[in-house]
Amino acid sequence: MNVECQFCGLVICILLWVLDSTKKQLNLYGSQLFKYILLLAIFLLSMDIASIICIANQDVLPHLFVITICKTYIVLLVFEVCTALLYLLYDALGERKHRQYAKKIILVNIVEAIAIFAAPLYIHSEGRIAYTEGPGALLAYLFCVIDFAVIIAVAISQRKKILPRRLSAFMVWVSVWLASAIIQFIDAELLLVGFAASLGVLVLYATLENRDGNFVRELGCFNGYALELYLGQLFERQKNFYMVQLSIDEVKANLKDVVENLLRRPVMQKEIYLFKLIGSEFLLITESEDLYSSVMKWLNSDFKNNFELQRRTQVVCLTNALDVGSAQKVVPLAHYLFDRFKGRSLTLDSEVTKDVLDAFLTQEKMQDEILLALKEDRVEVFLQPIFDTHTKKFVSAEALVRIRTPEGGLISPGLFIPAAEKSGSIVDLGERVFEKTCEFIASGRMQKLGVKYIEVNLSVLQCEQTNLAERLSCIMDKYGVDPKSINLEITESATLNAKEILLSNMEKFIARGCSFSLDDFGKGESNLMYIVDMPVSVVKMDYDLTKAFFKSEKARHVVYSVVKMAHDMGLSVVSEGIETKEELDSLVDAGVDYIQGFYFSKPLPVNEFIDYLQTKEML
Ligand code: C2E
Ligand code: MG
Ligand code: MG
Repeated sequence: MNVECQFCGLVICILLWVLDSTKKQLNLYGSQLFKYILLLAIFLLSMDIASIICIANQDVLPHLFVITICKTYIVLLVFEVCTALLYLLYDALGERKHRQYAKKIILVNIVEAIAIFAAPLYIHSEGRIAYTEGPGALLAYLFCVIDFAVIIAVAISQRKKILPRRLSAFMVWVSVWLASAIIQFIDAELLLVGFAASLGVLVLYATLENRDGNFVRELGCFNGYALELYLGQLFERQKNFYMVQLSIDEVKANLKDVVENLLRRPVMQKEIYLFKLIGSEFLLITESEDLYSSVMKWLNSDFKNNFELQRRTQVVCLTNALDVGSAQKVVPLAHYLFDRFKGRSLTLDSEVTKDVLDAFLTQEKMQDEILLALKEDRVEVFLQPIFDTHTKKFVSAEALVRIRTPEGGLISPGLFIPAAEKSGSIVDLGERVFEKTCEFIASGRMQKLGVKYIEVNLSVLQCEQTNLAERLSCIMDKYGVDPKSINLEITESATLNAKEILLSNMEKFIARGCSFSLDDFGKGESNLMYIVDMPVSVVKMDYDLTKAFFKSEKARHVVYSVVKMAHDMGLSVVSEGIETKEELDSLVDAGVDYIQGFYFSKPLPVNEFIDYLQTKEML
């Protein structure tokens, strides 16, 4: 008998089955398919061994029994090739379509099985060589060849839709199989086909279905990759789920301890899954309402009683998770919630309301719009002229970003700058504005009309880039722009560290010849010391302060003092938001050096800005 290979294969498959079954699983559809393949491989190898034993003992066994066992083996062989096709099709079709196709393919399989069972099969046995032949065997080979041809055609035509890892693992499997079939054909003594199937399963397991690839081993929870697969499935199935986000203060907590001692209770439940996001953020997800209630109970008992952990953990619960719209938005939502509820200790009551979700979705939509606008070059720079009260001329302008919609409308920065700041795309956006401004300056049009420099806004996030000065200098060099024609507007930075990075950037810019303005002075909780600490040459009084000037005696004193203080320090003052002649006159009397506001002009597209200056010059 020649069953050593088959026996090895069987052991491999059974070991894989045990390995796979002992771990907590996400019940992913793809993994279920793999389980079918594995199960089928176990049957296939068992039948392979059984058929060889039967053939060897055909003299003592009933002929019909031997033939039935042999036929079952070759039918299973056809089935195994077919499940391979099903497994491959999974990425290309998605779950819903896949289920429909699977039904049809299984039906074809059944018809094939009936045909094989109906056809006569003969046994060839001679020493160590034993195989089946005749119409039944020929039919089985024919079906296998057809299935292989379909598999190769699908793999080639759908290669872009299939996960690259799945495709390559799959190709290894098919190659091993084909090679074994050829070897077996040449040397009938080497019965390798069944064994090759088990090797293939091993390759699939190692590359795709190994649960360890979905696991953060040291913490015993699922990783971001597993989360992506799982969420993809939940959204495709349109199955609502419940999510609890836990953000643990990593500095103070040992994550391993937290997961082992505290999160173990809920995670022990079979259908509550724990995922680790970046840093020390975790998501507990369950599809069952009852299990979600049990998580809530746990939060209100064990969790609440652990005062230390409760103090440093932020909890946000989401019960209407499907409303997020797509799997890709869940992790950004988790980060958004983290930011939004930051600093609150136990916020068990912070179930994500519809308003919070809507705010997040609006921000996401805006973010998509920004990225698309950057890609499609729909980011525009508008210029608002700035009037010099001493020379009575327009000497500069502020560059203000706008997004042009595909329909030709405009989106103003008030709507998209907050989203851009949250997502970080403000860095690219700011650079695009800077580049467009440089392009305009390089055209030389404004210099002819007496405009000496353009003010460009820098966001806090840009200022925190350690290589900001180098990046923007590269752009100035690209357009051959004189750094003196650039003034950068900064606002107050939140943290000390950010302030230090900004300061070092400012020194580099100033060394090249750029100057700085302090924007939004007098807005919110401005810190007077900022003017002292930062090497700015201009202070821009915010719209609010300018308006307050006309409303209150106290504000008037503040404005007078700011102007005097700035002048004593050798700085100039700009007043923003001047809308009327009276406002203009009063602020000129107060000693303000520059005026910016709708009284002169709203921010204008560059060509209209040039036209505006030309008409003003003629007057
Ligand atoms: P900001 O830098 O303080 O710019 C001045 C804002 O006041 C501009 O609004 C301008 O149109 C508006 N403004 C000027 N004069 C008047 C007036 O007389 N009356 C009224 N009601 N408003 C006036 P805009 O263009 O909507 O920009 C809003 C803010 O968005 C800017 O405030 C700035 O913080 C930000 N922003 C605009 N462009 C950029 C950019 O390229 N980068 C960055 N980081 N932020 C930008
Ligand atoms: Mg500004
Ligand atoms: Mg301002």
